[in-house]
Amino acid sequence: MTEQSRRRYLGVVDLGGTKILSMIVDEKGRILGEDRRPTEASEGPEVGLERIAASLEAVMAEAGLTRDDLRAAGVCSPGPIDPVHGVLPEASNLPGWINVPIRQYLADRLGVPVILEHDATAAAYGEFVYGAGRGFRNIIYITVSTGIGGGFVLDGRLYRGASGAAGEIGHITIEAEGPPCFCGKPGHVEGLASGRAIAREAQTVLGRGGSPLMARLAEEDGQLSAATVQRAAEGGDSEAIRILRRAGYYLGIGFAACVDIFNPEVLVIGGGLRHMRDFYLGPAEEEMTRRAWQESLKVVRVLQVELGDYSGAMGVAALLLEGAATA
Ligand SMILES: [Zn+2]
Repeated sequence: MTEQSRRRYLGVVDLGGTKILSMIVDEKGRILGEDRRPTEASEGPEVGLERIAASLEAVMAEAGLTRDDLRAAGVCSPGPIDPVHGVLPEASNLPGWINVPIRQYLADRLGVPVILEHDATAAAYGEFVYGAGRGFRNIIYITVSTGIGGGFVLDGRLYRGASGAAGEIGHITIEAEGPPCFCGKPGHVEGLASGRAIAREAQTVLGRGGSPLMARLAEEDGQLSAATVQRAAEGGDSEAIRILRRAGYYLGIGFAACVDIFNPEVLVIGGGLRHMRDFYLGPAEEEMTRRAWQESLKVVRVLQVELGDYSGAMGVAALLLEGAATA
């Protein structure tokens, strides 16, 4: 067996703030095995890097593979990232992880070329190649979760921007002097429409003694999250419904901005809040339709991700298969 035919497999990792997903993928994009474990980011980057490598090695061992079977590897991670040097300068979801040389570490450990990609950018590409964006040339992936982010495929190519920071849909200004976003700046989509923004608004309501149902559910959950607000809304709580509809309204203004600028065929929605249809995504689509330019609205569809939480890792696999890792 030649070296080339033996090295057929890719190691891909989706590094999240709370969990690590590692997979082995073959040259046809088939998943041979996966490993999930907590990130435990608070233990620091040295332990974290070791955990990422151990996770990949575990899934390789389970698939009966060794380092010699691996062609390349790749990681996607919360931003910002430095894709040129393969370094995490300071990931907002990984507190204390500063200037982490993730690419070099894995390249040394595994003996193969390694790429580092922004997670939402990778997810956009994963959905474009294998998921809801198949067959289209212009897709915008939008993740609605604790935060809000995105990635663009334009004219069939991944668009990263000048420094790899394109797609930060969460930081579009939609209310000129609105409440501070979690990045500190006023009136951003993320500060008005994200899971954290929903929880912050709900906290304000509880602080003034409103919504007994939401208060009870928060006590049951041991926390007040967007999921708590959703449950209260399903129970008919008018304050919870108002909070979600308002967040959806702002999200829709963000959707409209994306549609007007890029004229995409599809918005692909990912992230944990994508299931909140009635009080959140529905109002967002209505608001998009009310605001966006008519010509762009004629072609755009709003779809959900097809790859679930595999979008990012499969995007890394697609990039590797196209030869993104060469060194
Ligand atoms: Zn912001």
